[in-house]
Amino acid sequence: MSNYMSYKKIREEITFICQKMWQLGWVAANDGNVSVKAEDGNIIATPTGISKMLIKPEMLVVLNQRGDVIDGNRKPSSEIKMHLKCYAERPDVGAVIHAHPATATGFAVAGIPLDRYSMIETVVAIGSVPIVPYATPSTVEVPNAIAPYLKEHDVMLLANHGALTVGADLLTAYYRMETLELFAKISLVAHQLGGAKEIDEANINRLIELRKFYGVTGKHPGYKHYRKESPKKEYSDRPKKDYPKKDFQKKDSYKKDFSKPKKS
Ligand SMILES: [Zn+2]
Repeated sequence: MSNYMSYKKIREEITFICQKMWQLGWVAANDGNVSVKAEDGNIIATPTGISKMLIKPEMLVVLNQRGDVIDGNRKPSSEIKMHLKCYAERPDVGAVIHAHPATATGFAVAGIPLDRYSMIETVVAIGSVPIVPYATPSTVEVPNAIAPYLKEHDVMLLANHGALTVGADLLTAYYRMETLELFAKISLVAHQLGGAKEIDEANINRLIELRKFYGVTGKHPGYKHYRKESPKKEYSDRPKKDYPKKDFQKKDSYKKDFSKPKKS
């Protein structure tokens, strides 16, 4: 009975987040799943086979950490193995969200990781986002595929499928999904405008250091790229003149390069 209030609160929070996910168009029909780890270690999860629009607190399912249903009349989400893996691998994780936000999922479908450090907030909040290799939904392939990435990522794309976020609590996991989808939209627009420009590595590292200052929980991959092409090469369409670094350190050579009009 002592767990009653916290369970009640968790059920209400999950229901609220499911509504948000449906309103934002991150899920169609019965897509997506949400779970939260209660203080006693049990997992409260969305049931399978119902739209996030229609979820009510009493419809949620309670499981132990092995995945046995200990309360509820419905079956847990078909992706519950993926959620259990997140909790098993990461004791710091208190909530897991899986959804299909359209732009981020577009990257997952196109096979393009969101691994460019081009926007300040995203660099701080989630870092690079990998694509977990293809796995058949509801099978043990999914938890096996995500396990290596959980070591350094709170956010990942699932190949040809969707996105997964984890957080210390439900709101944090939800915000990470929002950050992912907004970054995917921004990256797509930047691509249409000629390509995103990456922040230089020294500034990226300074941004990652800010996580301590802001008290950001979870994991961060550091400065890490998954695409084979280097960002510089990919975004070097703009004509650039190369000046040797040492020239900038000499006052006179700077004048020589920029101050006098060139003879033609
Ligand atoms: Zn899915």
